[in-house]
Amino acid sequence: MNISEEKTMFILDQKDMPTHWYNILPDLPEPLPPLVHPVTKQPCPLDMPLPPPLFPDAINKQEFSRERWIEIPDEVQSIYKTWRPTALHRARRLEKALDTPAKIFFKYEGTSQAGSHKPNTAVAQAYYAKKEGFKRLATETGAGQWGSALSMAGALFGLEVKVYMVRVSYNQKPYRRILMETWGAKCVPSPSPDTEIGKKLLAELPNHPGSLGIAISEACEDAFAHDDTKYSIGSVVNHVLLHQTVIGLETKKVITEQADTYPDIIVGCVGGGSNFAGMYLPFVVDKIKGTKKDLRIINVEPTSCPTITKGIYAWDYGDVAGLAPIVMMYTLGHTFIPSSIHAGGLRYHGMAPIICHLHRLGFVEAMAVPQLATFAAGVQFARTEGIISAPETNHAIRVTIDEALKCKETGKAKTILLAHSGHGHFDLASYDAYLANKLEDYDYPAEKVKEALAHLPEVPKF
Ligand SMILES: *Cc1c(COP(=O)(O)O)cnc(C)c1O
Repeated sequence: MNISEEKTMFILDQKDMPTHWYNILPDLPEPLPPLVHPVTKQPCPLDMPLPPPLFPDAINKQEFSRERWIEIPDEVQSIYKTWRPTALHRARRLEKALDTPAKIFFKYEGTSQAGSHKPNTAVAQAYYAKKEGFKRLATETGAGQWGSALSMAGALFGLEVKVYMVRVSYNQKPYRRILMETWGAKCVPSPSPDTEIGKKLLAELPNHPGSLGIAISEACEDAFAHDDTKYSIGSVVNHVLLHQTVIGLETKKVITEQADTYPDIIVGCVGGGSNFAGMYLPFVVDKIKGTKKDLRIINVEPTSCPTITKGIYAWDYGDVAGLAPIVMMYTLGHTFIPSSIHAGGLRYHGMAPIICHLHRLGFVEAMAVPQLATFAAGVQFARTEGIISAPETNHAIRVTIDEALKCKETGKAKTILLAHSGHGHFDLASYDAYLANKLEDYDYPAEKVKEALAHLPEVPKF
């Protein structure tokens, strides 16, 4: 075939976009462990999952729904259509550069207004809060991707948004704060003097660098303290993964119907796990049912925050202060503060319970990769496909390239599907550091993890 006839982009028609999110819960071969109340340490009944009313009712119901297909409200579908469907690309130039027989596809979420997959859930969460009469949303953000996505969604629905941003990132990364403020949100460095937990931490250490776990505690406290406010979270929990399934549903349809293939390997990066689970939940069900037994699904994480590959499977808090529910997950300990790698979105001590459960059951695998190798992969991707990717996404690109190179050795023409979570236009300082040889690798912090794991909550057997 003439190269000008080779197809490199596959896109659904807007009329064929998903009208429902896919809920994996009824298809899990064993039920997911319940949430445990942070104070009583008792399991929360499934129909009333979160006794502190952190989330709008509709979201609480979705968290443990037994319905396989959950309708995407019309208004949410209509906003999705301002940037969805996103395209599925065939990375032919990267394939050629690697001289691999593998076929590499990537689904690119960087074309949303906020530059990542995060608006898929931000828009849904803002919709339900507005519909139930709330005026404000409180949330946390690390590097600012989630905070900016929710600020955009808040603007579209006329909700006030308060973002607690981890202080080191607030100081180092002004551009995402400016995005948030342009969309009308209020963004403060965390720990902040606006909450009790923040005041306490600032009294101990006036220039406290903060962490995602601390910022979550502040946002939860804010929501508890204001009747007109709900808490919103950008990853980890079931309903966020549910909303992100639009990625996998669109992909499954185009890759089978337009590209006439089905992936052998699916690769993505995991911080809390939402973009990648959103991609693979509609595929992993085929493996659970036994129709695609050989499908490999690889969760990629940083060696400096190796939650699945080095953490333990245990009950732990989602936040530092213990205000959020206790969940069963792989964890490095809720007091663990990871090294300052540039992939801010991957610096979280825990992991989505659904991903952990699927890993325990053997349906998905995990790998950890060091920072420098991820930037080398990101630069190779930029110089072949043109896209400058988020440092988080570079983790997935690293493993995609490595798997494609294995295909070169074995001569097997595997289909590799990469979940591309977003662009890196606000992370150029990290590329600058990499290109100037100023970035470093961080070893696995064994001692810090051991110390943090000593603080896991004790949950009685039930
Ligand atoms: C937030 C973020 C991630 C990590 O979050 P997940 O919930 O694991 O998807 C990955 N990539 C990008 C671009 C992000 O903004």
